Amino acid sequence: MAIEKLLIANRGEIALRIHRACHEMGIKTVAVHSTADADAMHVRLADEAICIGPPAARDSYLNVAAIISAAEISGADAIHPGYGFLSENAQFAEIVEAHGIAFVGPKPEHIRIMGDKVEAKKTAGALGLPLVPGSAGAISSVEEAKEIAAEIGYPVLIKAASGGGGRGMKVVPDEDQLETLMKQAGSEAKAAFGDDTVYMEKYLGNPRHIEFQVFGDGNGNAIHLGERDCSLQRRHQKVLEEAPSPVLSTAERDRMGEVVRKAMADMGYRGAGTIEFLWEDGEFYFIEMNTRLQVEHPVTEMITGVDLVREQIRVAEGRPLSVAQEDLRFTGHAIECRINAEDPKTFAPSPGTVTSYHVPGGMHVRVDSGLYQGYKVPPYYDSMIGKLIVYGRTREGAIMRLKRALQEYVIEGMKTTIPLHQALLEDPDFLNGDYTIKWLEEWLARESVQ
Ligand code: ADP
Repeated sequence: MAIEKLLIANRGEIALRIHRACHEMGIKTVAVHSTADADAMHVRLADEAICIGPPAARDSYLNVAAIISAAEISGADAIHPGYGFLSENAQFAEIVEAHGIAFVGPKPEHIRIMGDKVEAKKTAGALGLPLVPGSAGAISSVEEAKEIAAEIGYPVLIKAASGGGGRGMKVVPDEDQLETLMKQAGSEAKAAFGDDTVYMEKYLGNPRHIEFQVFGDGNGNAIHLGERDCSLQRRHQKVLEEAPSPVLSTAERDRMGEVVRKAMADMGYRGAGTIEFLWEDGEFYFIEMNTRLQVEHPVTEMITGVDLVREQIRVAEGRPLSVAQEDLRFTGHAIECRINAEDPKTFAPSPGTVTSYHVPGGMHVRVDSGLYQGYKVPPYYDSMIGKLIVYGRTREGAIMRLKRALQEYVIEGMKTTIPLHQALLEDPDFLNGDYTIKWLEEWLARESVQ
């Protein structure tokens, strides 16, 4: 089935990213937007635009009935959910398909499995992915928790089965605190996700976050597109990502890549996915799978030359993958900076009107952003206003280019995290690729003391 008109059920830079892929494929686009986003760049560029509700996401970007109605009214034959919002909502995917509309994403049953962390871990284990040592499933009693913790050794981590964004997670240093912290994790999870199911993992002291991009055609063929290192995080939010990881050898990439590729082929996975691992002392430990396109997907596109959104649309049309594993080459190095409308020191949100705007350009520089002069950043959504991605033949080359591009980038009218990235790029640890998931928070604490 050829997709002729695609509805973009998202906003911001990712909506624009999807619109661009569609137009390059000759596909018409329908933007759906809240009243707060009527002036967004992708709304202006789309072939059709439909307002689906007021600013609050639950009344607009999460409003399934309004989105389906917009698809029916406009005659869209596909829906791309982007990331966040409804992208990992299995029921939404089912409703879309029940209306005879192609869902540009994985099979609903796979979204459902991976959305439940206990199920996800079981499935990953059965598919041969290495797991963090811990409970085999949910833990139901303090006695059971004590037994498992004694076996794997303290510190341990209590995690929520329905978790996300690091909520409902507790590090337990010793047995004395186990009961209290387990109860706390359970009630936090209940409050945040309506589900108090928790499970246990060994707490890794100082890992890196390394994730693999995978892609399946839904019929048992799958490829991996290498890894991204996303260890630079603040409050579990990624700040800067790079591909390849500075610490992985070609042999390790090939070995682990084949493990994840085979797992996705065996599962019959469809579309884009990311398998997230913690990596410590040369070992990988599966933590979760994201069944969607990621914010940081451009770094993978830069080093492979594969347009992941185009590939998603092809697969949704029932076409085969456009590239075979043996034809994929990982060349050079790519880095992405997430640019947020935030104070670079306090991280307080700083929405406002763009009074002056200049984007960097030149060889191997990519800016994914819906900003333009006069655009008013609405205060209702995520503070990310753009992504700057650069490519270089070497990591050093990419860093030099990134410094140059950040210096050119002008966004006036609000505070942004550009100065944070500039400072990071001067740090010797970063330059050496010597950082873990704890590094950025420690660095920020040091910086604020000075
Ligand atoms: P969420 O879905 O809530 O973001 P994840 O399982 O992805 O939960 O974990 C979020 C972050 O928590 C990880 O990126 C990592 O920084 C940390 N983390 C998760 N599991 C462990 C573990 N077993 N040991 C140490 N840190 C962990």
